[in-house]
Amino acid sequence: MSWDKIKGQEKAIERLKTEIVNDKVTQSYLFSGIEGIGKKLVALEFIKTLNCHSPYLNLSCENCINCNKINKHLHPEVTILTPLNNIISIEQIRNLQRNLALKPLNVKIKSFIIDEAEKFTLESSNCFLKSLEEPPEKVIFILVTSKKSVILPTITSRCKEIKFIPLFKEEQRKILKDWSSKEDVLELLIDLCEGSPGRAKKYLNLNITYWFQQVVSWIPKLLKKNLEDFHKISQEFTTLNDQELVLMILDLFFYYFSSFILRPEKNILSLRKSVLKRLVKIVEQTKQKIYQKVNLTLALEVMLLNIMDVENEQYC
Ligand SMILES: [Zn+2]
Repeated sequence: MSWDKIKGQEKAIERLKTEIVNDKVTQSYLFSGIEGIGKKLVALEFIKTLNCHSPYLNLSCENCINCNKINKHLHPEVTILTPLNNIISIEQIRNLQRNLALKPLNVKIKSFIIDEAEKFTLESSNCFLKSLEEPPEKVIFILVTSKKSVILPTITSRCKEIKFIPLFKEEQRKILKDWSSKEDVLELLIDLCEGSPGRAKKYLNLNITYWFQQVVSWIPKLLKKNLEDFHKISQEFTTLNDQELVLMILDLFFYYFSSFILRPEKNILSLRKSVLKRLVKIVEQTKQKIYQKVNLTLALEVMLLNIMDVENEQYC
């Protein structure tokens, strides 16, 4: 993988290349933008270019020992720190600081990528801040985040921000074509993934086609208020113990209802616009409850019941 193989982030890449050419590389960066658009790939490519033994025109050679080890994620001087149990803990930062104290071996710059940097705790943020304020020489930090606003300003203000943008439809289509040849699946992924190929890949791995068919078959059954159907759907849906999968299915509900609002001519269920709006709201509220860590099964059961009862004007 080299710079030119990363699609849709030419502006960010150009900025980083310019930093190298003008000798303006600083010690701390913040790579921001929605998940799944190549921030970590670019971070690794940047680090590779900085440490390559024979770079050419700001491209890494892909052959030297540093390029090879970084490509395989095996370089001892390139650390990718990811959250454990959904947080970046103070222990992880203390380990990083122990590593920081050692002189870099066989590289020009010792590098630390901190992925999902929004998952610092207050304690680990403050601990990390000390390293950020006075980093040793020949060290670079790249904080990667999709939720910059959650990170303490004392941290973000010490980093040079590089913004990453969602991919345009056509750029996304080019990437997704390698993963699925079916036009309807491509359209669904492009509409649902808001310019994030990473999210599209995740949804494919979660078997989006199967779940979309399920959602499409469940909705008319729920609206008919047949209790037997309700129990069958509830049995399959509310027992899913995978939050990522559930959130994807909720996106599919949302997508299906919204598509009828946007394209009334395709409204095969003949639902009134006011009812569709209520259905969208039911899905949004369920998503919020899940983010607030309400019991998953309960939240989904309530959602199915509310969908069944949506024609009741008293709702909402
Ligand atoms: Zn190289």
